[in-house]
Amino acid sequence: MINKGLLKEYAQGFGIQLDETALDRFDFYAKRLVEKNKTMNLTSIVEPQDIAVKYFADSLSLISKTSLPRGAKVIDIGTGAGFPGVPLLIARPDLKMTLLDGTGKKLRFIEETLHEMDMAAEIIHARAEDSSKSPEHREMFDFAASRAVAELSRLVEYCLPFVKVGGVFAAMKAISAEREQDGATAAIKLLGGGVPDIKRFFLPDGSERSLIFIKKISQTPTKYPRPSAKIAKRPLG
Ligand code: SAM
Repeated sequence: MINKGLLKEYAQGFGIQLDETALDRFDFYAKRLVEKNKTMNLTSIVEPQDIAVKYFADSLSLISKTSLPRGAKVIDIGTGAGFPGVPLLIARPDLKMTLLDGTGKKLRFIEETLHEMDMAAEIIHARAEDSSKSPEHREMFDFAASRAVAELSRLVEYCLPFVKVGGVFAAMKAISAEREQDGATAAIKLLGGGVPDIKRFFLPDGSERSLIFIKKISQTPTKYPRPSAKIAKRPLG
């Protein structure tokens, strides 16, 4: 389905070497995404070349812009049909991956897909703001990532409580990074985040992307995250 040679090149452009097993897994994942999308609403992107660029290359960009030690504990918050978490795990099977989403149906798709590819991840069906209150998940991750889930001022309240002090949260954005960062300065500080570092790059199709990296420099006060309705109505800003 996908052009494996091209995907290999895209990954090399990010400094990532994909072996045959990884390329086969990407191909299988793309096929299953398109197939299952006929009966459930997983994605609006169904052209193989678009899947390779907008989902796979975009997700892999994270690896090239940060260093993830072997065996790092990673959580993808609002993973949907698996982005960026599943591509990261295919490229880096050594990572301890957790995939979280509030919608169970997409998680079942991921769980079955991973099983078929002979891979496994921890799957959490919960809202982020509920899950991060539990001791087994709070401040337990080296790295958290989130793609296309919420504006940064809300997203940091969903995500930073999962990250251990010294770890990093990465928000994957299109071109709105600066504006969103300005609107989230107070929230980031309140939640224990440091000064954001924005990295810009282009995908192979020429579209611009930004990654906002926020290092966790102190513990998140226990009163955060607030209940869902409060976060939605009044972001910390
Ligand atoms: N990250 C995927 C991607 O890039 O394709 C999915 C993006 S989709 C637009 C947003 C996803 O975030 C949905 O699957 C939704 O259920 C999930 N989501 C939004 N807010 C959430 C929250 N507070 N807790 C858990 N999941 C959430």
